[in-house]
Parts: sequence; structure tokens; C-alpha cells
Amino acid sequence: MRPTAVLSLDMEDWYHLDYFSGKERSDYTMLDGIDVYRNLLDKFNIPSSYFVLGELMEPLSAVLCELSKEGADIAVHGWNHARPLTMNVEEFTENISAAKTKLEKITGKPVLGYRAPCFSMDRKRLDAIMKLGFKYDSSRIDFSSHPLYGSLDMEGFESPASFIYKKDDFFEFEVGTLSFFSRQIPVSGGGYLRIFPWRLMRYLIKKYISKFNVYTLYIHPFELSRKPPPYPDSSISALTRFRFQHGLGTVENKLKSLIDFLTGEGFSFTTFTSLRKDLL
Ligand SMILES: [Zn+2]
Repeated sequence: MRPTAVLSLDMEDWYHLDYFSGKERSDYTMLDGIDVYRNLLDKFNIPSSYFVLGELMEPLSAVLCELSKEGADIAVHGWNHARPLTMNVEEFTENISAAKTKLEKITGKPVLGYRAPCFSMDRKRLDAIMKLGFKYDSSRIDFSSHPLYGSLDMEGFESPASFIYKKDDFFEFEVGTLSFFSRQIPVSGGGYLRIFPWRLMRYLIKKYISKFNVYTLYIHPFELSRKPPPYPDSSISALTRFRFQHGLGTVENKLKSLIDFLTGEGFSFTTFTSLRKDLL
């Protein structure tokens, strides 16, 4: 397989982050980051996959229609960012089925993909999304040191390439990690792109692509938002402040650098849906 990169945006707001779940929601939004992302990708003429929350589909319906007309790959990220492993399988099925139906009504096209909030996924829930007619999932990550993430058993799947699994016409696109000093570093995470200096990130990604030829990135609107954080610093813990705020304002330039770097390394950019079609 030739070097391939898939960039993806998880369309959620700042208050959907798990560490804000106890906090009261306000009307403050950082979804302006969606436009920053789209404009940047347009400049490079690069396609993207999008994973959108059901509860944001109505307010974002104009953007979703535009993206759909442009041929973007629009997939489901659950209804309200509740972690799948905190719901039973029936609740989970209801939750994403409602999001799938809603999105199909807005775009008029079948929805093929799903990504679980917080990569909170197991085999029972993967089987449930296959039954619902989804054709790909991107909820697998090998990041066992993170307490929120699930683990996903791929028994019965074949692996046509690193981080890709296939069963009949269904695909699992694992989010890539790099084993480094016996830790798994998610070189695909927008949070890492934001927090790490670009030179360090570039070093890690270079190491990763020397071994693997499929690179994926997942990033969030708040990371690209041009607005300040929604609350005074004193109202959150130092850890939350670091995880949420560190590197805000640097991501747009780092994303440009990442695109330039991957292009220079011979990568071409695609979406999960196009990649699936190519691999079928
Ligand atoms: Zn998410």
C-alpha cells in the first residue's frame, strides 16, 4: 500500500470533553474551529472525514449539507458524547441509531462510519454497529495506560495493512500509536499535536512513518478555535487547564506543518470512506 494519510475532525464542542462532564454548560461555543479546519484543508485541497455528534447536527445542519455536497466523508460520533461503555448495548444502539438516522435525513446520503467518544469501545458494541449497517469504525486505539479507553477484540478480522482490519465489507481503522520506550504514544491525536512542540511531534511521526504507511489524525474544533477558553483559569484544576488549554493557538500552524511534512514524505490524503472503497 502506498503512503496514505486520513485527517479527521471529531465535531464536538469544548463541554463534551470528559473532564468537563460535571461542569454546567453555557452557550459559549468553540465550534468556530470547524471553519478554521475547513479553510486550511481547502487551501491544500485535502479531503477529510468528519465524525459529528447527534445533538449538534441541527445547529450544524448548514455546514453538514455543504460538506456533504463537497463530497466530504461525514460519519457519526454518537449522540451526546456519552461513553459507549457506560451504556448497555441496547442504549448504545438506540443512541447511535438516532444519530445515523438524523444525519442521513440532513445529508440525504447513507452514513457509513462511526467513531466512539473517548475510543470507549468493545466487541459487543462493534457487532451492534455492524448490525445497524455501518461499514467502518475508527474507535480502536492501543493506549492501555489511559483509563477511559476501551479495548477492542478483532477476532475473525483479517488485517490488510497495519492498523486496518477487515471483515467482509466492514473495516476497522485503528488510530495509530507509536511504541516508544515501552509506552504507546498516540502520534495521531490532536491533543498531542497541540501539547507537544512541533519538532518533537515531527520526530515521533517520522519514526512512526518509517514503520507504517497509513497515518491518521483526529482533531477537535476547540483545538483550532480562535476564541479564548470559556471560563476563568481559577475555576478549573491545573491538570484540566493543562490538558485543555496547553498549546491552544498553535494548532493551526502545526497542522499546516504536518500536512507539508507528510506531503514531502510522499503521503497522499484521503478519507476513511475512500480508503475503504480502495481496499474492497
Ligand atoms: Zn469526542
